[in-house]
Formats: sequence, structure tokens, C-alpha cells
Amino acid sequence: MIHGSEKSTASEAAEVTSASRRGFCVALLAGGLGYTAVRSRAADLVEPDSPHKATKAQVHYQDHPKDIRSCGTCIHFKKPNGCTVMQGEVTKDGWCDLFVLID
Ligand code: SF4
Repeated sequence: MIHGSEKSTASEAAEVTSASRRGFCVALLAGGLGYTAVRSRAADLVEPDSPHKATKAQVHYQDHPKDIRSCGTCIHFKKPNGCTVMQGEVTKDGWCDLFVLID
């Protein structure tokens, strides 16, 4: 025989289990979406003309260094002539506003 307080305990346990499943499903979905977004961003880094990158005009790209700063010493430079944040090809002697010196 189940008493009133035992019924509510069983009912509360069922609600907790249901909420846990719902939370797990939401976390699983969010994780999947996050993985897809990261994978898309990774693909953008190697795609020279990705629309997610800045254009040369937007970042004032020039094909010669600025002072001692050049693509060859920038963290965004990808050999032999790529850039992870700007569209198109670059030379190791180029430069733009997004320059960040390699440590
Ligand atoms: S200086 Fe600009 S164009 Fe050159 S690698 Fe760095 S971010 Fe890219």
C-alpha cells in the first residue's frame, strides 16, 4: 500500500528524471551545434575567399611592410601565401591593420 507521502516522492522522482533527460538532450543538441560552428570556422581559416574574412580594402592591405611589421611575422600568416583573417593571397612582405606579431 502506498501512502500519500510515498506517492508524491515517486512523482517528484519521475519529474526529476524527466527534467534530467530534457537537460541532457538540450546539452547534447548545444554540443552538436557548437561542434558544427567550430568546424565551420576551422574551414573558413583555410578557405582563401571565405566571406567570413575581411577584404583587403577593409583592412588596408599593402604588398610591402609597415616599419618592421609584415605578414611573415604575423600570427595570421599561413605559408606559403595565406592569411587566416583576410581574403585572398598575401606575400610574406605584405601588411594590414590586423597584424599581430608572433611571440
Ligand atoms: S599582416 Fe594582415 S594580411 Fe598579413 S598575415 Fe597578418 S593579418 Fe594577414
